Amino acid sequence: MSAEHSRLDARLARVRAVLADEGLDALALAPSDNLRHSTGFSPLADERFCALLLTADAEALVVPELNADQAAAALPEIEQLRFKDQDGPTAALQAALAKLDGGSVASIAVDPEMRADALLALRDCAPDVRLVSAAPVMRRLRETKQADEIEAIRRAAAVADRAMAAAVGACRPGVSENDVAAAVLAAFRAAGADEPWVSVCSGPNGAFPHHEHSERVLRDGEPIVVDLGARLGDYHSDMTRMVHLGEPSARYREVHEIVERASQAALRAATVGATCGDVDRAARDVISDAGYGERFLHRTGHGLGLSLHEAPWIMAGDEHVLGDGAVFSIEPGIYLPDEFGVRLEEIVVLTPSGAQIVSGLDRAVAVVAT
Ligand code: ZN
Ligand code: ZN
Repeated sequence: MSAEHSRLDARLARVRAVLADEGLDALALAPSDNLRHSTGFSPLADERFCALLLTADAEALVVPELNADQAAAALPEIEQLRFKDQDGPTAALQAALAKLDGGSVASIAVDPEMRADALLALRDCAPDVRLVSAAPVMRRLRETKQADEIEAIRRAAAVADRAMAAAVGACRPGVSENDVAAAVLAAFRAAGADEPWVSVCSGPNGAFPHHEHSERVLRDGEPIVVDLGARLGDYHSDMTRMVHLGEPSARYREVHEIVERASQAALRAATVGATCGDVDRAARDVISDAGYGERFLHRTGHGLGLSLHEAPWIMAGDEHVLGDGAVFSIEPGIYLPDEFGVRLEEIVVLTPSGAQIVSGLDRAVAVVAT
């Protein structure tokens, strides 16, 4: 048995253990980070039906012929049921279902990232089977990161730190948000990262948490929110820092300091056994007590791993308990319309001794002399 083979066996054994514990008979995963997490591989996701079907003692991949050889090379142990474009997936899917269950599957947990057309095809082939979301199953599998995953996340974070340094270096009066973004994307690509993205929000654009970047020219005296990330190997990075052209105003300093205190409060609250809601509340209370509660427009954070956004969700009222090995963002912000915004974002790894920040950069505003 090859090392890769035993690794796949170990992954599938974990999936089966959680599936059984959730009282489910079968799992159907589409091309997605859920499939990547379960097998180490995911074919290209497109309009063609593709799914791994798995029960307690069997599995089969229903796969379009054009992706089948690649999937077979990556997952030689998994039996395939192939179909041609002109035939459609129905016969292959029916054969897979018959093979797996022998008529005994009562419920299938379905990948929440499966396309609706694929889900409808599955329902049509298994009209008497109860289809439920696999989100709780996948959350249990993915939320607690293994040591090799945490190492990969730390490597991705180190590259993000370099990209942030490139952003700070590119910020000066007269350049556009797009120019700063280009410097960041180039830094990520030079470091071998894939799918780089960046949000450069200068001056009043900082009041929009999801502004990307534009031709707007940076001006002396303005703060700039820089949020960036990329995928290095299979794992993502995500961080936000503040840059300021020239000396910040007293008002800017005041707002930045509130967001910093909110970050610190959430970092302290992020302990094994705390709920997601506890961490959110710690940040939100600081901002609300300072009078800006209405201007903190979003949840405090999100999990990060194979996906940029995944469980846990660090938001008000979420009673989910955080465990050792959870990885998530803490990113409080204050958004002041027509003025500016301030957001500071750390990715942390939860350990028995508290939250460890993966970035090596401090959260002080980077003041660029003008
Ligand atoms: Zn984030
Ligand atoms: Zn971010």
